[in-house]
Amino acid sequence: MQKTKPLTASELLMPLPRHLEEKEGAFRLHNGRTVSFDPLFAGVGDLATEQLSCTIGGEDILFKRTDSLGEDAYHLKVGKTQIVVKASEPSGAFRGLQTVRQMALANDNIIPCCMIEDEPSFSWRGFMLDTSRHFFSVDFIKKLIDVASMHHLNRFHWHLTDDQGWRIKVEGFDKLETIASKRTLLNYTDGRQYGGIYSDEDILEIQQFAHRRHMMVVPEIETPGHASALLAAYPEFGCTQGPYEVQDRWGIFDEVMCAGNDDLLHFLQKTIAKTAKLFTDPYIHIGGDECPHTAWESCPKCKARMEKEGLASAKQLQSWMTSEICKMVEQEGKRPIGWDEVLEGTEKRGLPPSLIVMSWRGDQGGIEASDRGHDVIMCPNTAGCYFDYKSIDSFEEPGNIGVTTIQKTSEFNPIPKSLEKEKRSRILGGQGNLWTEKVTSSRLAEYMLFPRLSVMAERLWNPQDLPSVEKRRASLEKKLSKLDINLYRGKST
Ligand SMILES: [Zn+2]
Repeated sequence: MQKTKPLTASELLMPLPRHLEEKEGAFRLHNGRTVSFDPLFAGVGDLATEQLSCTIGGEDILFKRTDSLGEDAYHLKVGKTQIVVKASEPSGAFRGLQTVRQMALANDNIIPCCMIEDEPSFSWRGFMLDTSRHFFSVDFIKKLIDVASMHHLNRFHWHLTDDQGWRIKVEGFDKLETIASKRTLLNYTDGRQYGGIYSDEDILEIQQFAHRRHMMVVPEIETPGHASALLAAYPEFGCTQGPYEVQDRWGIFDEVMCAGNDDLLHFLQKTIAKTAKLFTDPYIHIGGDECPHTAWESCPKCKARMEKEGLASAKQLQSWMTSEICKMVEQEGKRPIGWDEVLEGTEKRGLPPSLIVMSWRGDQGGIEASDRGHDVIMCPNTAGCYFDYKSIDSFEEPGNIGVTTIQKTSEFNPIPKSLEKEKRSRILGGQGNLWTEKVTSSRLAEYMLFPRLSVMAERLWNPQDLPSVEKRRASLEKKLSKLDINLYRGKST
């Protein structure tokens, strides 16, 4: 039994709530506990029976409806004999449940009495998983979504296509599965293949799991670069007609989608339509990053397109493509998102006003996009948002390219310092990104994500500084370990 000083809510939670009053005593969670809920919160109540191991009936734990709270806001009162969560929306009730769940996991089901009034700083609180460079199972993605949602994150950005693998089926294009989803594994010399593709049922299962946890799913179909896998299956979509191969190593490759090819545009139309139908949330990410123009510059079809559309440079041609693909997304009733390269070469066609810009190469793209009237999601690789980077600067630490310390993530602010006040509302929020070329297994993915993603979640909900984070590392490790997460336990700086 616990004899030491009982832990308080402020020691157990990440993100910390915005208003927290500690009280004497604790509520003990055990298998005999009961839950009741307003009909509006039936889904959350049902989840509570799983996450808190209680049964529907009595009012030990009560989800009540109240007016006038924001979408994700909730009030929580933990008393010695009853827990009451009040919210106006199911998403708020769900955040309240996760706060209770965090305390239970971190403190052996002893939930300290407290009063909490809580709401987020930003509406976009996300994480991205690259499932192209390495393929991850449905079960693992569900596990990540669950743990992310426990930290009040609400966007899963799912990177589905890239040079090293295509992971979504499109009817009539069977070679996406037989060719584009497979690569040669370089770290073996026997030519063995590696890969996978998500069936529509897989995607629906993941989406349903995410929605139950009030997390939107944002699919990314990368265009027009990072297209080797697609071109390997359909060489006619490239400028030189191939042959091409699904890449077996990380990099930026010259062979991209041919911007002069109408058949390619037709394929993209079908792919976007399929994606829009399968994914029910409002956004589709269209990529747009790291697209070399080498192949376009010597391609007759691309040159003809430039002439026909009156485009003066390859950058303008890429921007033309961005506009065309955005149009496809909008025709399907969705809102496009693009990496910050979409801001380039826009002299001729401009940019669709609805396009959300994801700023990854520092914060300049975010500043420019908000100047131009676009909504922005911040995930600068320079500011603690890239979790494929090493956690500390050591040759023994796994990771790629750079270093993202816990300290760095704990200093992340989605609002760039130089951004004028009236443009701040353009910043929807931020996210942490995990590129996976060097992340060969789900265990390693967990290690790269945690605890940095927990710290990121707090920056987007209720930002705290590093000393505060440090005080809660132990309780965070405890709750993540209970969820079978393999996390980094090393230094923060
Ligand atoms: Zn071309």
